[in-house]
Amino acid sequence: MTAARGDGAGVLDRTVITPEDPRYAEVTTAANGRFRCTPRAVHVPASAAEVLAAVQGAADAGARVAVRSGGHCLEDFVDSAETEVLLDLSLLNRVEYDATMRAFAIEPGALLGDVYRGLLKGWGVTIPAGLEYSVGAGGHILGGGYGPLTRAHGCVVDHLYAVEVVTVDAAGTARVVVATRESDDPHHDLWWAHTGCGGGNFGVVTKYWMRAPDAEGDDPAALLPRPPAEVLDALTSWSWSDLTPESFRRLLANHGRWHETHSAPGIPENALFSILTVLRAQTNTIALITQVDAAVDGAERMLSDYLDALNEGVGAPYHHDVQRRPWLRSMLWPRMRGDVYGQRAKCKAAYLRRRYTDDQLDVIHRYLTDDTYDNPTAGVILAAYGGQASAVASDATATAQRDSVLKAFYLNNWTDPIGEERHIAWIRSFYRDIYAGSGGVPDLNGQADGSYINYPDTDLADPAWNRSEKPWHELYYKDNYPRLQRVKAAYDPTGFFRHALSITA
Ligand SMILES: Cc1cc2nc3c(=O)[nH]c(=O)nc-3n(C[C@H](O)[C@H](O)[C@H](O)COP(=O)(O)OP(=O)(O)OC[C@H]3O[C@@H](n4cnc5c(N)ncnc54)[C@H](O)[C@@H]3O)c2cc1C
Repeated sequence: MTAARGDGAGVLDRTVITPEDPRYAEVTTAANGRFRCTPRAVHVPASAAEVLAAVQGAADAGARVAVRSGGHCLEDFVDSAETEVLLDLSLLNRVEYDATMRAFAIEPGALLGDVYRGLLKGWGVTIPAGLEYSVGAGGHILGGGYGPLTRAHGCVVDHLYAVEVVTVDAAGTARVVVATRESDDPHHDLWWAHTGCGGGNFGVVTKYWMRAPDAEGDDPAALLPRPPAEVLDALTSWSWSDLTPESFRRLLANHGRWHETHSAPGIPENALFSILTVLRAQTNTIALITQVDAAVDGAERMLSDYLDALNEGVGAPYHHDVQRRPWLRSMLWPRMRGDVYGQRAKCKAAYLRRRYTDDQLDVIHRYLTDDTYDNPTAGVILAAYGGQASAVASDATATAQRDSVLKAFYLNNWTDPIGEERHIAWIRSFYRDIYAGSGGVPDLNGQADGSYINYPDTDLADPAWNRSEKPWHELYYKDNYPRLQRVKAAYDPTGFFRHALSITA
């Protein structure tokens, strides 16, 4: 499908928001308060045809386009001063079964909570996506996507059957392309690129179709994983004031060791997922949330063994609470502060193949207890990975990191723009010092394995902060980058879709 040249404005009058419109402030506000764009027009399309018309109109005008789905981008890829035309896809948010594709169609504006509710209540199935229900499917799936069921069922993109994308060719003509994972599909490489490339690279995704890689038949209830009926939802916390430097190191080393030894594909412990949040000592709390499929044999024992392993030799008291909840209730539980509108943030990340070294643990302890810095909401979050994610080859999808056992998310959040540089400087030096042995960035195929494009960090492209020999794209895509570049050359030859860390042909 292509749009008639110049017909964009007429088709879309109803859905175009300009700076005088009272809705403008709403549609130009994203999750990270550090960034704000000032486009001359914001389109709010409700169909692929409307997206096509908006993209064609922007291409005809030579305008710089950005796309927003859930608005959780951590860098300024959408909210940049260069954005002239913004596509807000939040009304493109259906979740339904498509019998002709034998797959579930998910539109990009659907939030993860809506996806979970729609798939579960409609068909009893799900996708192994993130724990934050307000993240948009649009950006999340493009970056690979992982969550509490990843250890049991792989990454989200391991279940991606097809994508519908609006691209712009060398002549400036926008068209709708459907690319599937069928090996004889002429657009197979475009599908592959969408299995972990990150947002804003090849075009505007207007629909994802999801079907498990091994699914057979046409019973929708058998085409995607079934989530647990119920989970054991545990919250465990330690007080910083009870921890010595030694016991802090012991706790984190125990945690890393458990994940090193319990993250192979196909083992029973893949029914367990956890997130360990280690913020600065001023918070006086180190918090662990753990989710275990309540139906697996010995679920309670698996949870208590996990906690015993983490506490072994730590010698500090901890508080522990377990609730048995239906799975969807657990996924929609507002345990994280994803609705962070107005908060300002700088984040960094790494894949961890092994636990932190003693030197790295010393750095982490020093930064989190340093009383010359005063912001409490800064630190690191360690999320369980591995399991079935590791059963997939590094080049089978664009998500290259397949033998890591944890994802590390380094964050600093604040509200007052005054003194912002101080907070950014803190997290930059925290990260640089953790990875001092590999040029200030995570190494590849070592203790770490580069970083996750859904947690983007433009510092990796800045020689002041990346002093390693590895360019930013190798840290994110490893050996998959050249193939991504070939897809870019084929489907976005003019670089119409671009941002601070976009793939270049
Ligand atoms: C609080 C929080 C919790 C998170 N938890 C997890 C987690 O548990 N697991 C995990 O894997 N990730 C997690 N993430 C990361 C999250 O997956 C990414 O931030 C994701 O890119 C957000 O998607 P979005 O649609 O909400 O954001 P947006 O800001 O709308 O989009 C992000 C990027 O994708 C592009 N994009 C969006 N939609 C489209 C589209 N339709 N076509 C082309 N490009 C598009 C945008 O232009 C932008 O570059 C979390 C992030 C936050 C802030």
